[in-house]
Amino acid sequence: MRLTPYYASLIMPGAVNDPVLLQCVPTGEMIDNVGEEIPPVAADHSPARLIDQFYPRVATIKVTNMCGMYCTHCLRIAHIGKKDRIYSKKAYQEALDYIRSNPGIRDVLITGGDAFVLPNDLLRWILQELDQIEHVRLKRMGSRIPVTTPQRIDSELLDILEKSNDQKPLRVVTQINTAQEITFVSRETFRQISKRVSAVLNQAVLLRGINDTRTKMWKLCETIQEACVRPYYVFNCSYRNPQFSHLRVPVAVGQDIIESMYGNVSGDAIPRSIATAGGKIPLHRSNVQGRAGNDLVLKKPWSGEEVKYPDASEKDHSSGDFSFKRYIKCSR
Ligand SMILES: *Cc1c(COP(=O)(O)O)cnc(C)c1O
Ligand code: SF4
Repeated sequence: MRLTPYYASLIMPGAVNDPVLLQCVPTGEMIDNVGEEIPPVAADHSPARLIDQFYPRVATIKVTNMCGMYCTHCLRIAHIGKKDRIYSKKAYQEALDYIRSNPGIRDVLITGGDAFVLPNDLLRWILQELDQIEHVRLKRMGSRIPVTTPQRIDSELLDILEKSNDQKPLRVVTQINTAQEITFVSRETFRQISKRVSAVLNQAVLLRGINDTRTKMWKLCETIQEACVRPYYVFNCSYRNPQFSHLRVPVAVGQDIIESMYGNVSGDAIPRSIATAGGKIPLHRSNVQGRAGNDLVLKKPWSGEEVKYPDASEKDHSSGDFSFKRYIKCSR
C-alpha cells in the first residue's frame, strides 16, 4: 500500500466503501483471492529493454515502476510496489536506440509506473531525444500524479511539457476513476497542464462500487471534462490477476452505462469502452460474438481473431457486501 497525504485527504470519513479508499487500501479479499497472475500479452512484446511494443506504430517506454500511489486494481500489480526502480541513463539510451532504429514507430508513450515520478532533468532529456528522432511524430506521457500528488506538477515541469509540445504534439494520459478525485487542487493542476500540451486524456477503469452506475460514470466524465480532461478509454477491469476480482464489473453493465451517455452527455465526454485481451478490444455489442459459460467471445477488429474473455459474475457484482462492508457492519 502506498498513498500520499493529499490522496488520503480525499477519503470521506465514515463512508465504509468510499470510492477513494477502495482504490488505495487493500482489503482481506486481496489475500483471499491471491493466485497466479496471467501476465499481460503486451509483456510478450518487449523487443528491447524497457520497451513494450504491441502495435507496429506505437511503442511504450516503461521509464520507472514507481507511482505516487499504488492502486488496488493495478493491471501491473505484480511489477509495481515490490522494489522501486528508476533506471540508469544507459537503459533509457537503449530504449531510445530501439526507437531510433525502427522508422515505423510514430507515437511514443512514456509510461511506467508513473512518468511524472521521474526528475524533471531526466524527463526533459528523454523528450528532447524523442523530439530529435525524425519518424517520431507525437508523444504521450502516462501519469496519475496530477490526481494523487498534484503538488509535484511544478512550473519547471510545465515549461518542459510546453517546450516539447512546441516541437511535436505531446499528450498527457491520466487515470481518474471517480469525480471525488477532482478537487480544487487537481482541477487547477489539470487546467495548467492542458494549457501546455495538445490534449489531456483519461483512461478510467470500470470498478465495482466506484464508478459502476450510470450516475457515477456521467458525473465522472462531465466533471473531468470541466477540468479540461477528455474521457478517452474506460477499461473493463482485468481478469488476469485474481487479487482484484472483487472489483470487476460485468461487460453488460459497462455497455449499459456507456450507451446511456449517447444523447445525454456531450459527445466528447463519452469514453470508448475497452477490454484488454491481446490488444485493446472495443466492447461494442457487434464485437461480442457470443458467450460460452462465463466467457465472452470477443472479436479483434484489426485481425478478426476471436478471443475468450472471462466476464465478471453478475451475481457477485449485484451483492452489495464486499470490501470494507464485508468486514465492518455499519449502518451508513
Ligand atoms: C495501450 C497500449 C498502447 C496505446 O494504445 P492506444 O489505443 O493508442 O491508446 C500502446 N502499446 C501498448 C503495449 C499498450 O498496452
Ligand atoms: S498509477 Fe497506474 S501503474 Fe501505478 S499503481 Fe495505479 S494503476 Fe498501477
